[in-house]
Amino acid sequence: MKQIPIMKPYFDEVEINEIKKVLDTGWVAQGPKVAEFEGIVAKHEGVQHAIATTSCTTALHLSLVAMGAGPTHDIIVPSYTFVATANAVEYTGATAVLVEVDRSTYNIDLTWTENYIKDHYTTKDNKLVNNETGKELFGIVPVSLFGLCADMPAVKKLAQKLNIRILEDNACALGATIDGTHEGAFGNPACLSFHPRKSITTGEGGMILTNDEDLAKKARELRSHAASLSEVARHESKGYLLPEFNDLGFNYRMTDIQAAMGVAQMGKFDKMLETKQKKAENYNNLLKNVPELIVPAVPVGYGHTYQSYVCMLDNEKMGLSVDDANLFRNRAMDFLETNGIATRQGTHAVHTLGFYKKKYGYKPQDLPVAYACDRLSLAIPFYFEMSDDDQEYVVEMLQKAFKVAANS
Ligand SMILES: *Cc1c(COP(=O)(O)O)cnc(C)c1O
Repeated sequence: MKQIPIMKPYFDEVEINEIKKVLDTGWVAQGPKVAEFEGIVAKHEGVQHAIATTSCTTALHLSLVAMGAGPTHDIIVPSYTFVATANAVEYTGATAVLVEVDRSTYNIDLTWTENYIKDHYTTKDNKLVNNETGKELFGIVPVSLFGLCADMPAVKKLAQKLNIRILEDNACALGATIDGTHEGAFGNPACLSFHPRKSITTGEGGMILTNDEDLAKKARELRSHAASLSEVARHESKGYLLPEFNDLGFNYRMTDIQAAMGVAQMGKFDKMLETKQKKAENYNNLLKNVPELIVPAVPVGYGHTYQSYVCMLDNEKMGLSVDDANLFRNRAMDFLETNGIATRQGTHAVHTLGFYKKKYGYKPQDLPVAYACDRLSLAIPFYFEMSDDDQEYVVEMLQKAFKVAANS
């Protein structure tokens, strides 16, 4: 039986050669390779500063701490995202306030969000204060899900109007663009992931991109236990002087071994991206014969990177409720699994997950679109080395799976 995975990272001898070079130098912790990798990604995305970390989760946490987020704050997070976006907010002691998403782009619904803020916050001393908890609205973490940028110009407009901060979760969005501007270059700090399910991988890894020099400096220090040399030590530049530790820092450093992989992966990223965009086009065409599925939307002017290829079941066209269509989808996914084809739901609605449900008392229908995306999304196998034949095979098997699901 043919086995088709949901995702397969692409490596060749370049990764091995780059890693060997690092091993030969004997310097394997954060060092010159990390700096080189940071420089390559910053240049690619058109951003001045890049700070590599152990993951996107730690990049988000580090950014929020460096920006000054803490227990007295509320931070807006779209509910339909990987749980790590909300978790990073909660690590700081701030409250992740979950909001609605748009059903076609899967990204934050700004109209819904603005209305929610109007209804739940009051302006006091130039700050937006939560009517119930008294917490101050600190900022918003828009997510560019599956490789499609959130509407960053509109996010920025709203944030400026409300006088709140922005941190972009671009875990899936390396190389994504709006009108030619790359993710990370919209003027807000942004975080990337290099997990194997993402566009390029370092095994585990993440990065903060920013044009804000002070934020970059702060994040660099906090990444490494908040170690900083005093002005005197810097002036005397004596190597044996210990740094000072004036803040509660972390060890969120990437290794030079990981960075070597990153350098190798970046060398082929543009080629991989171009190929994947053609393959997505191929799926879009093939899936015209599968009326149950809505293919990923790409608004005019947007460059989608297809970190994954995520469709939605068209429950309205099928005449099914969200919950019945969810059962239909799961039957189809079972059939595909037993026939060697891996599928996943896109990601989850965070407000339906145990920790958030328990802590904040969310009900599924509090955010019905995020809930529908959770129940109806379907990610199908998609990766750089996937052949046209395999794509055709997946679509044929999808058609079979939907027949089986309809008749059981
Ligand atoms: C994968 C992902 C993360 C977490 O990335 P890690 O590098 O695994 O920590 C965060 N947010 C989103 C939207 C993701 O898809």
